[in-house]
Amino acid sequence: MTGILTIALSKGRIFKETLPLLAHAGIVPADDPERSRKLILDTNRPDVKLVIIRATDVPTYVQYGAAQVGVAGKDVLMEYGGDGLYEPLDLGIARCRLMVAGPVAAPPPRRRLRIATKYVNTTRRYYAARGEQVEVIKLYGSMELAPLVGLADRIVDVVDTGNTLRANGLEPLEHIADISSRLVVNKAAMKMEHRRIKAFIRQIAEAVEGPRPEEQSS
Ligand code: AMP
Repeated sequence: MTGILTIALSKGRIFKETLPLLAHAGIVPADDPERSRKLILDTNRPDVKLVIIRATDVPTYVQYGAAQVGVAGKDVLMEYGGDGLYEPLDLGIARCRLMVAGPVAAPPPRRRLRIATKYVNTTRRYYAARGEQVEVIKLYGSMELAPLVGLADRIVDVVDTGNTLRANGLEPLEHIADISSRLVVNKAAMKMEHRRIKAFIRQIAEAVEGPRPEEQSS
């Protein structure tokens, strides 16, 4: 196969935690995206490039084939929805929980709950499945602020240590989903470049799972 393999990644935690997995597949970026302003990074392999994009854009790039593969959080994939992507591998990195949170010991309001989140689709689905009618307010960041200034009664956000919630007088209330990053693959590329993509998935899977006992050197 002669074409370029393009891998979509976001900066920060996902990039850092994906690096050792890529290294196991023999792929080492030529630049550090935290220092470089380049959006397309070369690697040690002439046939592999990385595109550095916002985490929420990774599913779009991969679905439309601008990148054959990518790494995205399950929170982003749940919100993106649809069945336009293959999701063959849980990378077990950037783990956290998607939670409903609210002010500590606050009683529920007598009116319909107002919930601030950037995960509007996931939040609507969650409450619809419970048969609860809620009002969902879309925010793009700093969700923790919304209950403090009376914009919302609750937030839906990803929580890791819970320190950000605690620092703002909030507490986790309901667990929606366990989150980790997933490898996603363009459906057409999986068919057209089956051998190369399968080999890539296998190498990344080995890095995630560690060597099998019979492969470990004594
Ligand atoms: P925490 O450790 O709970 O204080 O998390 C700090 C902030 O980082 C939260 O507001 C989250 O929005 C964000 N965060 C934590 N873990 C992740 C993750 N795995 N992926 C994306 N954002 C995260």
